[in-house]
Amino acid sequence: MKSIEGSRQGLFIGGRRVAPLSGRYIASYDPTTAEPWYEVADAGAEDVDAAVRSAQAAFVDPAWRRMTQTDRGKLVRRLADLLLQHADDLARIETRDNGKLLREMLAQLRAMPDAYLYFAGMADKLQGDTIPVNKLDMLNLTLREPVGVVGMITPWNSPLMLLTGTLAPCLAIGNTVVIKPSEHTSASTLALAEIIMEAGFPAGVVNVVTGNGATAGEALTRHPGLAKIVFTGSTATGKRIAANAASQLVPCQMELGGKSPHVVFADVDLDRAVNGVVAGVFAAAGQTCIAGSRCFVEAGIYDRFVDSLVDRTRRIRIGHPENDDTEIGPLALSAQLEKVEGYVGSGVAEGARIAVGGHRPQQGELGRGWYYEPTVLVDARNDMGFMRDEIFGPVVGVVPFRDEAELIGLANDTRYGLAAGIWTQNIDRALRFARNVDAGTVWINTYRSAAYMSPNGGFKESGYGRRGGFEVMREFSRLKNVVVDYSGATQDPFVIRLR
Ligand code: NAD
Repeated sequence: MKSIEGSRQGLFIGGRRVAPLSGRYIASYDPTTAEPWYEVADAGAEDVDAAVRSAQAAFVDPAWRRMTQTDRGKLVRRLADLLLQHADDLARIETRDNGKLLREMLAQLRAMPDAYLYFAGMADKLQGDTIPVNKLDMLNLTLREPVGVVGMITPWNSPLMLLTGTLAPCLAIGNTVVIKPSEHTSASTLALAEIIMEAGFPAGVVNVVTGNGATAGEALTRHPGLAKIVFTGSTATGKRIAANAASQLVPCQMELGGKSPHVVFADVDLDRAVNGVVAGVFAAAGQTCIAGSRCFVEAGIYDRFVDSLVDRTRRIRIGHPENDDTEIGPLALSAQLEKVEGYVGSGVAEGARIAVGGHRPQQGELGRGWYYEPTVLVDARNDMGFMRDEIFGPVVGVVPFRDEAELIGLANDTRYGLAAGIWTQNIDRALRFARNVDAGTVWINTYRSAAYMSPNGGFKESGYGRRGGFEVMREFSRLKNVVVDYSGATQDPFVIRLR
């Protein structure tokens, strides 16, 4: 794979790299040094139009349209093999771009090819039904078809992994795609597009337009050539995109923000639960949509739990994301760092207390990058600003609860509904919580255990539609009803009866 350091990355349209017609480029920064490390094209409306046209042409090109399902499945499998070969390089690019731990990105990207293999299996399972009707000598069929050109807009926190649950099935089903990655982390998606070509996909099946959300992103979501939009990002941007799409009746899949409740009952193994809460909110420096950032603890163990959480949090090793023993790297963006500081400050102003963390580490190389200490806020209330808004950083608020009724009220008192976690030995209680909580995913005695075989997605302002699992076959295909009359009889032209 070619070195990216110091390069100027063009767009990927029609199977090759092209310079942007806009002539504009933007810098991508290394969050450990706050220095730019390459430039990426900032596509304008003409570039986006060229990418969508390329995807439209590829969709009807017999090279793709008339490829058998078996051959499409084989192509996706070949892509999976190549992704495994390139996994370590892709992981290094993502770590450099967003500061997530190299160990985590290596694990994520070495596992990603398995997801492509899973979705490759959908290629030859896209099928319709034969449905009975109240007339003999009539066949009533459904056909499942690809939808067309799918626009995909992704965030910076796990660019390729978040793309997988939608891109892999889209390819297996026979759609074509225009991807707009985050302007902060475009390099791995551009590299992926080249690997897709190397696997043998026809040119134009996958196109990548990079650039700012307000320009490239807006142009894509307003383009009349899209059959579907998949958006992963913040709720505020999601609402804007959904409005753009609605004006053209383009359906969307929305994977948005969260403010997930993470619950600990008194009957737990304390160390395991503390470890789970730490993993749930501090992994990836809290920059995960599913972060369990509202922690509710049964009153009887509240003090013991907080002591133990504070102790473990104090021992978290902050450092360079490429070091093997680092547990938390930097935040991906300087704006993100300021946002986190702002929410901790407003939490304190509202009466919460910092039990641990709450600063930017100043020593050595950490002082240069966008690092922030993992932070536990106690004396918190669910109605404080930092407990209501998604922070997307290493900050957790801890609140005691008395009983299940109070707990479920607190857990659901949020505009989000992405994930929830509960630690208890009482299975009845755990299942009652799972039933009653408004969350697209519920973890019991584990957290952040997401799988591509599962239908992941949110409720409420965390979005709609599902990524992963068999559900996605429905998301990225459309159903057509075909009715055949083989009776040979002539119909009464003026009386059409429902059968
Ligand atoms: P963001 O909403 O700022 O940006 C996401 C993408 O949208 C970027 O590619 C950006 O360029 C683009 N964009 C911005 N404005 C646009 C516009 N007006 N029109 C079209 N595109 C536009 O989000 P972010 O800061 O990159 O990512 C963090 C957010 O993503 C968090 O809220 C997080 O919870 C969410 N997220 C959700 C999931 C999920 O599966 N639910 C997964 C990861 C991240």
